[in-house]
Amino acid sequence: MRTRIALIGSTGSIGRQVVNVAARYPDLFEIVCIAANTGGEAFFEQMQTLSPAFAVLRTEGENTGAPRGVRFERGEAAFEEACAYPSADVFFIAVTGFAGLKAALLAAGTGKRVALANKECLVAGGTLVMAAAKKSGAEIVPVDSEHSALWQCLSFDRGAPFSKLILTASGGALRDVPLEKLGGMTAKDALAHPNWDMGAKITIDCATMLNKGFEVIEAMHLYNAPLDKIEVVMHRESIVHSLVAFADGAVLAQMSYPSMELPIQLALTYPARLKANVAPLDLAALGALHFSAPDPARYPCFTLALGCARAGGDLPCALNGAGEVAVCAFLQGRIRYTRIAEIVEGVLSGMQPRPAESYVLLRETDARARSAARALL
Ligand code: MG
Repeated sequence: MRTRIALIGSTGSIGRQVVNVAARYPDLFEIVCIAANTGGEAFFEQMQTLSPAFAVLRTEGENTGAPRGVRFERGEAAFEEACAYPSADVFFIAVTGFAGLKAALLAAGTGKRVALANKECLVAGGTLVMAAAKKSGAEIVPVDSEHSALWQCLSFDRGAPFSKLILTASGGALRDVPLEKLGGMTAKDALAHPNWDMGAKITIDCATMLNKGFEVIEAMHLYNAPLDKIEVVMHRESIVHSLVAFADGAVLAQMSYPSMELPIQLALTYPARLKANVAPLDLAALGALHFSAPDPARYPCFTLALGCARAGGDLPCALNGAGEVAVCAFLQGRIRYTRIAEIVEGVLSGMQPRPAESYVLLRETDARARSAARALL
């Protein structure tokens, strides 16, 4: 029987690649449910080509235009139904931002496999998501390339012992720009990532390394790792996606050309490895691979994120909310690049961590961080 996928966030960069992977193996996979935030041609096209049993737009509006056989609903209640769609075997959470937390919590409550491409849900509410999964017996599978790499190095066992998790960071599009010129960088400059083609928000987060800070917090939750067992190393070629060090001194790395299709496909097929759309690695042609320590002067957002990781509670949630507002303003050309870190720092300095004990509390923290960030714009 085919694995039935509920794809939450079907029209974004990751969502479209999940569709590609599923289409490559039509005998193995069937997308039975799709959900997206807003409509547009891509969503209506997916309803036609995938003909899922259930299709949801989270925003309210007219629910017309669906092909025969597709139940098309709109609004929050329908979105919640999609995130725990009863006939799905796997929930692929590919929505971006804080919006992914509710989706992840609902899916984690089903007791099924949850492929997590949304990192913000673990940053903002990792304790809640992991607890929900533990309670229901749901299996959380990482899709973020670094965390997929760690998972592969741990032989697909997130509970396996290790001495250190080593995350690699490309440094983003502005890694070679002289520090004094960073303030003048535009969204177009920061969006020109040297190795990865991704959504706009995450590409800016790569430039500031806020993304790598998020990934440290993500790794803490996924691998039950204290902060001092996680290391970040700069690696400009993005060939080594992350590494795990073990007690005996052995270090395992996962390597490939950068492609999200590999971790996406593996989240669906593991422990099997099937052919993917990734070229064989030509080590001789690559020549040298480079590693170095991150430069705190270039990446103040990364330092702020590590502070939140250390403080815990709802501070990572505030970090995420403040970051979303600041990056959005930068993308709109409303603030300078270097203001992103200043705004995030300004928001965090006014906050004391509270225990991240409920979704309601986190939603309140998120809203407070956003309004504080907007006040600083
Ligand atoms: Mg990543």
